[in-house]
Amino acid sequence: MEETETVGTIRIRGARTHNLQNLSLDLPLGKLVGVTGISGSGKTSLALDTLFVEGQRRYLETLNPQIRRQLRRQSWADVDEIQGLPPTICLDSRTLSVGPRATLATLTEIHDLLRVVYFRDGVLHCPSCQSIVQQSTHDEILDDLVALPERTKLQLLAKVDDDNGIAPQDRLRQIAQSGFVRARINGKLVDTSDVLVLPEDAPRPVIEAVVDRVTIKEGIRSRLAESLDVALRLGHGCCLVTIDGAPDRHYATIRFCGVCHRAFADPQLRTFSHFSAAGACPACLGLGVRPVEESPKPKRRPKSTSRNHSQRAVAQVVPSEKCDECQGSRLGEVARHTFWEKRTLPDWLKLNVDEALQAVRQIETAWQQEALPGGKTTHQGLLRQNLIPEIIRRLDGLQRLGLGYLTLDRSAQTLSGGELTRSRLATLIASQRKGYCFVLDEPSSGLHRADLYRVKNALNSLRDVGNTVVVVEHEVDLLQEADWLVELGPGAGHLGGKLVTAGTPETTAAAPESVIGPWLQERRQFIQATDSPDDRQHDRSCINQPLPESIVLGACEAGFITIPPLRVRNVHVPALKLGMGQVVCLTGVSGSGKTTWLMEGILPALQQALNDRNQRSGSKALASGDRGLMATIPDELIEVVTIGQSPVGRGWKSFPMTVAGLWDLVRKIYAATKDAKLRGFTPARFSPWHPEARCPVCLGQGEVTLEADFLPDWKTTCETCAGDRFNPATLAIRFRGKSLGDVLRMEFSEAAEFFSNFERLARPLHLFCELGLGYLKLGQPMRTVSTGEAQRIRLASYLARPDFQGQRCFALDEPTTGLHPADVQALLKVFDRLVAAGHLLLVVEHHLDVIRAADQILDLGPGAGPQGGQLVAWGSQQDLRQNPASLTGQALRDSIP
Ligand SMILES: [Zn+2]
Ligand SMILES: [Zn+2]
Ligand SMILES: [Zn+2]
Repeated sequence: MEETETVGTIRIRGARTHNLQNLSLDLPLGKLVGVTGISGSGKTSLALDTLFVEGQRRYLETLNPQIRRQLRRQSWADVDEIQGLPPTICLDSRTLSVGPRATLATLTEIHDLLRVVYFRDGVLHCPSCQSIVQQSTHDEILDDLVALPERTKLQLLAKVDDDNGIAPQDRLRQIAQSGFVRARINGKLVDTSDVLVLPEDAPRPVIEAVVDRVTIKEGIRSRLAESLDVALRLGHGCCLVTIDGAPDRHYATIRFCGVCHRAFADPQLRTFSHFSAAGACPACLGLGVRPVEESPKPKRRPKSTSRNHSQRAVAQVVPSEKCDECQGSRLGEVARHTFWEKRTLPDWLKLNVDEALQAVRQIETAWQQEALPGGKTTHQGLLRQNLIPEIIRRLDGLQRLGLGYLTLDRSAQTLSGGELTRSRLATLIASQRKGYCFVLDEPSSGLHRADLYRVKNALNSLRDVGNTVVVVEHEVDLLQEADWLVELGPGAGHLGGKLVTAGTPETTAAAPESVIGPWLQERRQFIQATDSPDDRQHDRSCINQPLPESIVLGACEAGFITIPPLRVRNVHVPALKLGMGQVVCLTGVSGSGKTTWLMEGILPALQQALNDRNQRSGSKALASGDRGLMATIPDELIEVVTIGQSPVGRGWKSFPMTVAGLWDLVRKIYAATKDAKLRGFTPARFSPWHPEARCPVCLGQGEVTLEADFLPDWKTTCETCAGDRFNPATLAIRFRGKSLGDVLRMEFSEAAEFFSNFERLARPLHLFCELGLGYLKLGQPMRTVSTGEAQRIRLASYLARPDFQGQRCFALDEPTTGLHPADVQALLKVFDRLVAAGHLLLVVEHHLDVIRAADQILDLGPGAGPQGGQLVAWGSQQDLRQNPASLTGQALRDSIP
């Protein structure tokens, strides 16, 4: 079938997925290919929804016929043909869903490797007395007994299982019936034929059957072996031997603590996994945290009528505390007490990548120095030759990608999009795959410019072993490094989806029709003019300047916020006084603590101040002692709005119009039509969640989940309603000839025209277009929207709301994620409007254009993780440029002003 395939290229012909307009192009195999274009131009439609989806379809076609039949019904990439496509793997932080139990170690499979190490080589210590738990074989016990001095009289006993609800008296009778004449009850020997008299409410007695009485002498071994067999069977793997005048000896063929007489089940691989019921801490079910019983919740009656995004977002940070049973390690008792090389599994997982790598390397070096005796068992060979080198490779990959500061037990849900993508990237490199096509969505996102070279190196090394690497990217420095660039456009939505340029970075920079060209050109000239800034080593140790007691940022005549000195984990920032009506940018290398400080420090403090004020206005006040360290806020501030990277508002159900709060207006328009009135349809009837209105198959989601265990997150358009979300009766109502399904498929720019007679709806729709979101479809599922787009939708929805009053503090976490340099300008326009209305914007960002546009900058560092968490520099852009300690200042100096 594929004999016409051109060697060395991936041939794409007639791609029409989403807004792609019958796109045909060739991509070089085995090269680093950058895909660029403004937001909505069709980059992800090409890279993810066409290349990757087609690659996945081909893989699934190789599976069994039954799965194939199920898959045939699904909608795949809309493309005439793709030739020469290798097996495809996608790294997309947008669709990479991580559960509450996922950690950095599980994502990178380091946990799985360590699990095998502990399963094979771990030594269990008794959780109660810390002594090593012994386990013997039948023959070892026998050897031990036969070696006793000649003529020793011993009794072999087995503890009778007493946990099966049988009364002690009956149990004794059973023992007698099994042929045992004597037993020991609570340490006293009795005849089993005796009637057992126990006082009322006595604790259940310990019953041990005397299996045999033996005198050690020549030739006793075979008899003893038989009796031992019986005793071990009766005692479920444990037995004891009594000798007059000596303490009891306990033996077990199962794991058994000889001090506490406690038996332990044999470990399994799953004993060391918190994903399994067998391995997870029973108190927190492997989550590591438990919900806090909150002391009386402040009753909050917000003045504003708007919904409370902020409180939800802040509440997510507060409500749980470390599980005290497992100290947050997520693992059960046995896993917490099994040692390997002086550490338990939780001990390893508590280390950060740098520390863990150092520790494993030390162990490896120690092994190399110790002479390898010939009799090493195979499992130790496996450990030394496979597992440990593999663990080192993966840790090393994480370190190279600048993630050395992350602890292995770090919850994956608290990782930023960029950290998540880079940890997957490290895992892929470590797995040493060759001949694949990797599709990556913005691997640079969330990365400080000082660390960009790490991603460059990683992508190059993936390519150099013989893979094709397709990167959707906006970072000019990375695009510059690509072997081949594909630019889509020229516009967004239905105005995009065409090939603008394809070629090397040089030819793209020179192409007059290229949108990214001027940026490439600028960067090239700059690189030629200076030495490469990436190789320059920055001295991160020169940070010893004393911090002032408090810092004032911006004009504070009108309203201002004060924040007390805060310490969140290792992040420490002095007191701040922030004027309203400005953009404050938080910068610093990845892992320096920016997000922690903003999301877990400032925002909860502001929220607390808001709650306190609202409570006081309701006559109740907090104890005055608490207020000493509280933030203060101006009266005009009515809400703290968090717009983070977390998928808040990105649930299955929502779509841009519901997030923007504009769908209600559309419903009213439809309810006012003649047909709707005739049928008695109210505005409520036009909600896709209304039981009588929605499509009965997808329940108003427009999508259904493919039920196959190997594809947990596979969503596909609902066949019944074709993505319209509504049932035919609802779709029959038309306004100006369009059904609600048609409306959901409109782009914002079209909708602004279509509803132009409805001022209340048209005005916000126009606003969305002005802010560069005109290409989005009204009913696009929020999960298919990039995090950057989702943040802009939420920001725009605040401006678009008719009842938008009062001042707010907006906290944004890397809002430029997924933005073309040209789109960043559109975002800055949103900022301008918000600031002009007196709002305060706190923005965590690496993008230099945003940093330049900020009124004030707080630069955290100097390094990542334990080396971070300090305020390095602050003030205006000029202040940072002049500060030799600031990496951000250096990045600003290295860029064109
Ligand atoms: Zn013990
Ligand atoms: Zn726990
Ligand atoms: Zn449906």
